[in-house]
Amino acid sequence: MSLAVTAAALDGEGVGLRAEDGLIAELGPAVEPRPGDEVIEDDGLLLCPPMINGHTHAAMTLFRGFGDDMMLMEWLRTRIWPAEAKLEPEDVYWGTRLACLEMIRSGTTKFVDMYWHGTEVARAVKDAGLRAMVSSVLIDDNNPANAPGLRDQVLASLDEVAHFGPRVTPTLGPHAIYTVSSESLEWLAGLVENREIPLTIHLSETEGEVSDCVEAYGKRPADYLDGLGLLGPKIVLAHGVWLDRKELDLIAERRATVVTNPAANMKLAVGRAFPYPEARHSGVPLALGTDGASSNSNLDMFEEVKLFALLQKHTSGDPSTLPAAEALAIARGQRSAALEATPLAVGEPADFLLLRGSDPELSVGDPDADLVYAAGGSVVDTTVVGGHVLMRGRQVPGAEEIVEEVRSRARRLTDRRS
Ligand SMILES: [Zn+2]
Repeated sequence: MSLAVTAAALDGEGVGLRAEDGLIAELGPAVEPRPGDEVIEDDGLLLCPPMINGHTHAAMTLFRGFGDDMMLMEWLRTRIWPAEAKLEPEDVYWGTRLACLEMIRSGTTKFVDMYWHGTEVARAVKDAGLRAMVSSVLIDDNNPANAPGLRDQVLASLDEVAHFGPRVTPTLGPHAIYTVSSESLEWLAGLVENREIPLTIHLSETEGEVSDCVEAYGKRPADYLDGLGLLGPKIVLAHGVWLDRKELDLIAERRATVVTNPAANMKLAVGRAFPYPEARHSGVPLALGTDGASSNSNLDMFEEVKLFALLQKHTSGDPSTLPAAEALAIARGQRSAALEATPLAVGEPADFLLLRGSDPELSVGDPDADLVYAAGGSVVDTTVVGGHVLMRGRQVPGAEEIVEEVRSRARRLTDRRS
C-alpha cells in the first residue's frame, strides 16, 4: 500500500510526497512514483496539514436542525432527550458515519468525540478511515449511588473501543462537573493516572455552572477538577468560556488542553467569548472544536477557525489579537500535546490534505490568511489518513448510502416527515 503525490505545492515551493505503510517515506522537490504506487499527479494542488476537531458529539448529526433557536433547557427537554431515548446503537454508527463524511469533505482527519455507544462510534471511525479519541461516557446524575454499575460499563466500553485498531484512542468522557459526582470523577482520575488514558469533559461553558460549582464546593471549576486530580496533560477541557485568569494560569501549569468552540458558544448564547488574550498570556495549550452538529450546526473546521479569529478580534477590539497563522496552528491541534497532531515530515503518519489552489478563494492572496478568512471546507480536494486516500476530487466512496441511511433514521428519531 503506497501512494505518490508528484506535483503539489507546499509553502510556495513545488513538492512531492510518497507514503508507504501509513507513513511519509519521502517529501521534497524531486519525488518520483514507484511501481505499485497509487499516483496523484494533478497540477495546482496545495499540500497542507489537516484539521483536528478537538470537541464534538459526532452522532448528533442525526439531530441537526431539530429544535434550533430555543433556550438550552427547553431544547434538551422537549427535543433532544425524547429523541435520544429512542436511539439505538446502529443509529449512533450511522450518525457518526455522516459526521465522518462531513469531516473528510472539510479537511478534518481526527476528532475528539463524546457520545453514547462508544463502540458504535469506534466502529464508524474505523470504517470511515479517520482517527478519533472515542469516549466511554459517564453520567451518574451527580449521585454516587448510581456509580458502581456505571463504572463497570465504562471499563467494558474502554475494552471494546480498544479493539478498533490504532486509529481509535480509547478516552474517558465524564459529561460535566454538574452531571458527574466527585466520587466518580476521582475514580476516573485514577484511571487516567494508572492507565494513561486521556479524558475529556465539558467545563465552564456557562456562568451558572461556575456559580453552582462555587456554591457546592467553594471553588471555581478548574480548581475543583485540580483538587480531584483531574488537571494534567491527558485532560481535554471543552469550552472554558468562563475560566478566570487564575484558572487559566493553573491549567497552563498543569498542561491540560482547553478546546474553544466559538460557533456553538455563539449559537447557544453562552454570554461571552472565550478569554483568548488571557489564555494566550497564560500559555494554555489550546485547540479548536465544532461541538455537535445540533449546536453548531456543521463540522467544518475551516468555518470554525474563521469564526474563532473574527470573534476574538471583535471582542478584544484588536485585529492583531489572533493572527491567521496562530489560529491555523490551533485548528490543526498543533498547540495541544493531548491531541497528538503530527507534522508533515518523513517518518510521520501520512495524514494530509491537498487543496484546490485554483479555487477563487485560494488563487490570489496570502496562504495562511486565505485558509482562515477566505476558504471554506470545500477547497479540500483530497483527504489522506495513514496513506489511505479517503476523498479525491471531492468524491468519497459510499457517500450516497450514508446520507440516505441517516436521513431515514433521523426521520424516525425526530418524528419528522421530510
Ligand atoms: Zn459538547
